[in-house]
Amino acid sequence: MRMSSQIEPFMKQVAKTVPLVEHFYSFQGEGRYAGVPSIFIRLGGCNLGCRGFGVEIDGVIGCDSLKAVHEKQFGDRWERVDDLVAIVESYLQKVDFLPDLVITGGEPLLHYPSPVLIGLLEFCCQKGIRVTFETNATIFIDFERYPIYKEMIFSMSVKLKNSGEPQEKRLNHRAIEAIVANVKESFFKFVVRGEAQEREEIAMITKAFGTVPIYCMPMGSTAQELTRYDKDVAQLCIQNGYRYVDRMHIRLWSNEEGR
Ligand code: SF4
Repeated sequence: MRMSSQIEPFMKQVAKTVPLVEHFYSFQGEGRYAGVPSIFIRLGGCNLGCRGFGVEIDGVIGCDSLKAVHEKQFGDRWERVDDLVAIVESYLQKVDFLPDLVITGGEPLLHYPSPVLIGLLEFCCQKGIRVTFETNATIFIDFERYPIYKEMIFSMSVKLKNSGEPQEKRLNHRAIEAIVANVKESFFKFVVRGEAQEREEIAMITKAFGTVPIYCMPMGSTAQELTRYDKDVAQLCIQNGYRYVDRMHIRLWSNEEGR
């Protein structure tokens, strides 16, 4: 799948600034580095909508990161910034160790050519800060032109049918191939209910990437919703060799902002 013609102008438009939705210091609640103290930078904009996740804010339906997805409804709360390093430095001053940095969204890789983002990544490489991108893995990255991305960790939350998005929008095998072939570390992280059909979808998406770890986490933006699916997801993992991972921040703080 080629990058859509709607994305390319958006990337050019944001080249000198990036839309910052929020930043905070917490711990990673999900995926391979669950439990690790982490600085979070959330960037605005997404090329998907994921209405299937059913979270509603101000009449808009989508995922639990809704406010980072829809510029039209929530963009007036985003800040256009030309420096992300200062934000990370401000958190580093408060601790005497190096936390991880998680760059999330929305879809943060919409902004991958931005010098603002690249400046932050160069800073992190110099400092030895481990950086994870949380991505839907639909954006094809030119790793030869932007080699700094080879040093990053990619948490690929490829969306399944349960997201409500059509396959041609949510699956970009070329983008996944480029990530897996180029970056120092990547893993899949699927949001599931533990259904048999999800197993088939996961098998189809991952079959070409045999050594890439597969994590599954229960769908839900409240502890109650997670509990509805967690045992079925655990079974799905046990039966198929996937790694179960929870959403610890939601268990602890629900979907509270800044957590
Ligand atoms: S890809 Fe991620 S951030 Fe974008 S709408 Fe879907 S779940 Fe939300």
